[in-house]
Amino acid sequence: MAHILEVVRIPVLSDNYVWLAREPLSGAVAVVDPAVAGPILTEADRRGWKITHILNTHHHGDHVGGNLEIKAATGCIVVGPKRDKARIPGIDIEVDDGDCYKFGEAEADVFFVPGHTSGHIAYAFRKERALFCGDTLFALGCGRLFEGTPAQMWKSLGRLRALPDDMSVYCAHEYTQSNARFAVTVESDNKALLARSAAIDAARARGEAVGMAGADPVAVFAEVRQRKDVFR
Ligand SMILES: [Zn+2]
Repeated sequence: MAHILEVVRIPVLSDNYVWLAREPLSGAVAVVDPAVAGPILTEADRRGWKITHILNTHHHGDHVGGNLEIKAATGCIVVGPKRDKARIPGIDIEVDDGDCYKFGEAEADVFFVPGHTSGHIAYAFRKERALFCGDTLFALGCGRLFEGTPAQMWKSLGRLRALPDDMSVYCAHEYTQSNARFAVTVESDNKALLARSAAIDAARARGEAVGMAGADPVAVFAEVRQRKDVFR
């Protein structure tokens, strides 16, 4: 039996990524960290997907802001970190480190990964090779230490690093170019890093990093215009 998730990226706010993940055998559809509700409900509708779950990694407003509206609109189940249950709007199912959460015919191993916040978790779908890591790990970077210690974050990143190399990592923000610019100041003679950084700059210059290839032109325009609104 094939173990896959169909994953769709929905860019919202200034740099958030909300992920829609469909498990095709059951038809279950999860929204991971809905910052907002409107664009998520619209995209699910457009695809004919019925949202059955919300998976939250942590309590920040740009990860749970759409919880209640999506739950009211769809009747979906809200899954989130047990240690942060008081800060997750509409939470129905509390999960913690070591839990195996069944989502349709797929299963997510729950990792407690404190550092960015004190209750942060990640969802690792091992068979489907998909990791939803919220604000713990980004391309070429990691989340700020708002509530945790460097030691906690180091350990959390180490646990994610130990996962198989061929897992797709679905993080919650687009910080790649900024992270690359910073990383080359830390490791200025790292050839692989310099090459990656140049490739990222080239992709940005070609406009690929809007991340909406094939999308409706008005939607792309709206996204770019909205990014410009908050550009400093
Ligand atoms: Zn956050």
